[in-house]
Order: sequence, then C-alpha cells, then structure tokens
Amino acid sequence: MTTIKENDLIDSIADSLQFIAYYHPKDCVQAMAQAYDKEQSNTAKDAIAQILINSRMCAEDRRPICQDTGIVNAFIKVGMDVRWESVRGLDEMVNEGVRRAYLYPGNVLRPSIVSDPIGKRRNTGDNTPAVIYTELIPGDKVRVFITAKGAGSENKAKLAMLNPNDSLVNWVLSTVPKMGAGWCPPGILSIAVGGTAEKAMCMAKEALMEPLNIQKLIKHGAKTALDELRLELYEKVNQLGIGAQGLGGLTTVLDVKVSEYATHTASLPIAMIPNCAATRHINFTLDGSGPAQLELPSLSDWPDITWQPNKSSRHVNLDKVSQTDIEQWQTGEKLLLSGHLLTGRDAVHKCIADAFSRGEKLPENLNFTNRFIYYVGPVSPINGEVVGPAGPTTSTRMDKFTEMMLAKTGLLGMIGKAERSLTAVNAIQKYRSVYLVAVGGSAYLVSKAIKSAKVVAFEELGMEAIREFYVENMPVTVAVNSYGTSIHETGPMKWRQNITGIPL
Ligand code: SF4
Repeated sequence: MTTIKENDLIDSIADSLQFIAYYHPKDCVQAMAQAYDKEQSNTAKDAIAQILINSRMCAEDRRPICQDTGIVNAFIKVGMDVRWESVRGLDEMVNEGVRRAYLYPGNVLRPSIVSDPIGKRRNTGDNTPAVIYTELIPGDKVRVFITAKGAGSENKAKLAMLNPNDSLVNWVLSTVPKMGAGWCPPGILSIAVGGTAEKAMCMAKEALMEPLNIQKLIKHGAKTALDELRLELYEKVNQLGIGAQGLGGLTTVLDVKVSEYATHTASLPIAMIPNCAATRHINFTLDGSGPAQLELPSLSDWPDITWQPNKSSRHVNLDKVSQTDIEQWQTGEKLLLSGHLLTGRDAVHKCIADAFSRGEKLPENLNFTNRFIYYVGPVSPINGEVVGPAGPTTSTRMDKFTEMMLAKTGLLGMIGKAERSLTAVNAIQKYRSVYLVAVGGSAYLVSKAIKSAKVVAFEELGMEAIREFYVENMPVTVAVNSYGTSIHETGPMKWRQNITGIPL
C-alpha cells in the first residue's frame, strides 16, 4: 500500500501545467522541424518558422506558447493499492493544482473557462474546473496524463456514428477539409473507432498524448492493420494540401493516431480530435516519494533556423493606410504592420451588435474609422511586459458580425487566423475591405511586435476588452484581398495539385 499526500498531487499538477505552457514536447519540436525542412510552400514554411521560433523563445523566457492557455484535461489512473493522505476529493486536488498553476505570479496563464455556458458565461478566474477522467488500475502508483487543450483545436472535434460497412478513410478525408484552419495545423489527428459515442471521444482525446512516432513507423513499416491505417491516413490527409495554418502546403498533420475498442455489431462510432501547433501535454507517476520531477528540455532540442520577414514583406503604416492602398494587396502577400490597431473578439462584437440593435452609439473614444481590428485575447503582462502572448484567435466566430462592423463602424480591415465564411468574404468584397492572418501558435513572437497597449473600452470584459495596440513590424499575410480571393481556398487547391509526385 502506497500513501500519496495531497500536496504531492497538487504541486505536480501545478508544476506540470506551468511546464507545458512554455515547453513544447521534444517530439513535437522534432516533427515540426522535419515539416519545416521539407516544406516547399513559402507561405507555409514561413508560418512553421514562426511556430518554431516562438516555441524556442517561450522555452527560453518561460512564457506561454499561445495566448489560449487551454482547458485542462486530466486522465488520472489510480492504483488500487493507493491510500490518500488528504481531506479533499481527487477532483478537488486536481482543481487546486490547476488554480495554483494559472494564478502563479511568475507566469500568469490566461484563464479561459466560463461557468454558466448557456447563460452569462462568467470567467471563473482561475481556469477551473478541469475536465477529469479517473480510472482504477492494478498497483500502488498514480499515473497522471494532463493536457491544456486550446479551444481552436477542441472546437473542431468530430463524432460520427457510421454504419458498420461505411469507409472510415472516406469519412476522415471528407471531414478534415471541413474543419478549416481554426485548429492551427500542422498538428496531430487522433481518430478513435468503436465503443460508444462517449467512449470513442475519450479514447481519441487520450491518444493525443501518445508520443509522435509516425516517422519511425514509415521507416520500419506497418506490422498491424492499425499501423497500415495510420500510414494511409497520414499520407492521404497530407495530400489534401491544407498545409500550415490552412495556407496550402505539404504538411497538415505531423502524426495520425488511431485507437480502437470493441463495439456493438450494428455500430461504428468514430471520433476525431485534432491537436494544434501549440500541443501541450505531459505525464508523470506518483509513487509516494514526493511530487513529480519533470525533466527539463535542452535548448539544443530546437532547430537552428532563421526567419527574415523584412526581405520579402511590404511595410504598412497603419496610421496612414487607405482603402486605395489595401486594394493593391495581393492574397498571400506578406506584410509588416506598424502603427495603431484596435483589438476585440467574441464578447466585444456581441456588445457592439447589441448596442446598435438598441439604437445606441459606440462610446466616444471608440472610433473604428479607417482602422484595423485584431481578434485577440492576450495573456496578462508580467515583469514590465507591454502585453503577454497575444496571438490571433479564430476569425470564423466573428463572421456573423463582419457585415455589421464594415457597414456601421468604418472599419478598414481585420486580423485573425483561419478561413472566413462565404458571408464574411462577400462582405469583405462588398466593402473593399481586407482580411489578414497572423500565425496561430506564435503568440509570444507576435507580442514582441506590440510596443504599447491600453484598454479603451469594455474593460469589464477582461482579456476580451478592446485595447489599442501600437505595433512595429507585426508579421501578417493577406488572407482575403479586397476582391474576395481567399488564400484558404486557393492555397490548398494549388498544393493539392502540386503534391502529386512530391514524396510526403
Ligand atoms: S495554436 Fe491555435 S488552436 Fe492551439 S491554442 Fe493556440 S490559437 Fe488555439
């Protein structure tokens, strides 16, 4: 019988969540570096370079890889010979660890969890509660698998109850393109087959934390039918040409996981969950000897790559840019933005729409005329930072407000990540606006371009408040030009055609 003290679990959870906020797993860095080496699309290669440079900077400075520091998922496997020295229940201990991690003053993480999700959606302030799964296993140890899952990738989770004779491969290949780029590829696809609806989803989530080993599998060859399926899906998904950030390129997935479980003779449940460029997970074992000791990575684990945006980018002064200027910008063109821009995301757009529907005007100090809005909810700053990591959030959620913003506020353009819906693209074309993308998963790198930040409206919305940023050389790519041409359409289409004959 082993005794585990409550603080050993709480401290281990807190340390793990801080650790994964700034250290990418080594296998993920290596897989990303391989994707960088073989990428032939300049736009996608540029995005992967930013992800890798961001990753190394975060490891050096111990700041979050992404502004979305995730919803905590914990899989806890408790040995049946374990005794707890605690007055708290297991969930309570895990949540205390989450609380301490997210409120740790040396590296405050962004709390993103809201209670009352179909009502007031109030931020709980400390990123609790976690989503916790518990299993009893033989032995006298506690094994913990923990991940901080970003919403961009979590929102793309899919479940289908197929018929037993349906093709799983066809379902995956027709579903992945519909997931768009909001999951910030390149990342990992986890596919679980069998069980029941909820069993398949849980298996898919847990398998996302397995080591990345598809390159070894390619080298040594498949030994089982599941291995063969992984290889087939890896090759065929990458042949879709979606590429980094959905901009078109050779690598959409770094690995594909497939797990299975027995199921009913009339059923074929299939769950698919992607993990993004900001893959964050770790596991540890408690054996009664104290909290987990986490092995620090070496900076030599990161590839030595350079990224020189100045060479090929158009410099844009945001304080002088006009509609005539933006009409010159080509889809796929790289820009370096300098000057002032406003921020805002989901809650702000709803507040603005509600104000207009009540016949009210915007606050006097809030003027969008001829300005750009950046969809972002930054991490709080520490130690003299202007702002914490501040990467783009998924723009698709703002699509239903785009026409309203362009028609009623004088907004010139938008900055975010991932594709826009047809409705939003039509509005961009109608108002001769433009949509730019920054790289999801490079939040700390982006924050270095932000030289000042102040809240200008809706302060009560916390990280979602409207801020004015002054930026210098903020790197973005033109995703939808003023004529409605979208790189998320043209990029993957071009690379799907190019890819034939290129070994993946
Ligand atoms: S990389 Fe993208 S999907 Fe992942 S946490 Fe960051 S913004 Fe969300």
